[in-house]
Amino acid sequence: TVRTRFAPSPTGYLHVGGARTALFCYLYARKHGGQFVLRIEDTDLERSTAESVNAILEGMTWLGLDYDEGPFYQTHHFARYNQVIDELLDNGLAYRCNCSKERLEKLRVDQMARKQKPRYDGCCRHKQIDPNEPHVIRFKNPTDGVVIVDDLIRGRMPFANDELDDLIIRRTDGSPTYNLSVVVDDADMRITHVIRGDDHINNTPRQINILRALGFEPPQYAHVPMILGDDGSRLSKRHGAVSVVSYRDMGYLPEALLNYLVRLGWSHGDQEIFSLDELIELFDITDVNKAASSFNLSKLDWLNQHYLQQADPARVARLLSPHFGRLDIDPSTGPELASVVKAQAARAKTLVELAEISAFCYRDFAEFDESSAKKHLRLVAREPLERLRAAFDLMAFADWTPEQLKHVVASVADELQLNLGKVAQPLRVAIVGRAASPGIEETLMLVGKDATVRRIDQALA
Ligand code: GLU
Repeated sequence: TVRTRFAPSPTGYLHVGGARTALFCYLYARKHGGQFVLRIEDTDLERSTAESVNAILEGMTWLGLDYDEGPFYQTHHFARYNQVIDELLDNGLAYRCNCSKERLEKLRVDQMARKQKPRYDGCCRHKQIDPNEPHVIRFKNPTDGVVIVDDLIRGRMPFANDELDDLIIRRTDGSPTYNLSVVVDDADMRITHVIRGDDHINNTPRQINILRALGFEPPQYAHVPMILGDDGSRLSKRHGAVSVVSYRDMGYLPEALLNYLVRLGWSHGDQEIFSLDELIELFDITDVNKAASSFNLSKLDWLNQHYLQQADPARVARLLSPHFGRLDIDPSTGPELASVVKAQAARAKTLVELAEISAFCYRDFAEFDESSAKKHLRLVAREPLERLRAAFDLMAFADWTPEQLKHVVASVADELQLNLGKVAQPLRVAIVGRAASPGIEETLMLVGKDATVRRIDQALA
């Protein structure tokens, strides 16, 4: 059965590029009825942090990328990695090396001067080094032949063994290195498909050699191209938010971000909107582009707006609540949040925006949107607003219904022989603060009688 893994190093937040890799791993496993494993590669003790582990788990949970096994922590498996290293040593497939820093540095400088690729020269291969003196362990890479990486995205890539050097697999301090632990885990976890960023391509032939030395069949590899920023360089903080949870905080829905990420480098005809089930059915890793794709916030906004309108208003209401918190609004003090969502969802690109444009339902405002006020309030509006105020003031609370309100607004327009817009727009600006809102009756319902009268007074003042 198909088994994929997402193997982040916990040295920062979950990056959108990482999330896309995780999504591809997830989809591929689900499509084939296989398993998806989460492996935290925390062997770099200096750079790995618990906060970063939490941020990764939080991001995965928010996106709904459920894993079948894990999180599995590499630091819990040092004994296993060391056992494998000892086995390689015993079988003559690895060796101790005590070359000094100075020697290695000189080697590097000489090779560079000769315009050669710097690589270890195998100096300690045939030496007998006392295990009690400081040393590293190196893997004995084959010296001839070619390693073929048959990549599911990039096709066939041959690497000559004489270009690869004898990789350090155990450091002087006794800790196993990245390439060794990845290989052991991929084998032990019976990973069938390694889907990862193409920054790892150069590790792949080395990993294949170690796997073969250990008697394991290498998995299939798929190296995913990177995500670029709008200036064509690799997407980074300079381009804006890159952490997955910051998109949650900016008011994006997880399904919008997933839909956005999957389309970075993958497509199915010209279809833009995909449910997760559809993706599981349609996605294939071999269809991912070789070329890098660039991140485009307006496309994400478009998708988010679509999903905001599609989503269950009760769910959006739950997600919206914290965004009101940031505006110091307690939504339990006004109209039911789900009805606000229903009325407003089509007008907002994000939850943050949705909260902002709906604040009028919960509190008065001191300032009008300048251009709305100029256009609708200052010029012709006194008369209609005064009449509306008087009519509203007389209404009983029980009459505050969409039908009655519609009738009142229409009557005022009639009396003044104005078209409806000339009455409804000033009213809207008076009670919302700006010229955009749901239908006028709906808006009046959301604002309520008291606030409506109070705000008309404010507009007339
Ligand atoms: N831990 C590596 C990283 O975060 C990924 C290793 C892999 O997928 O093989 O870049």
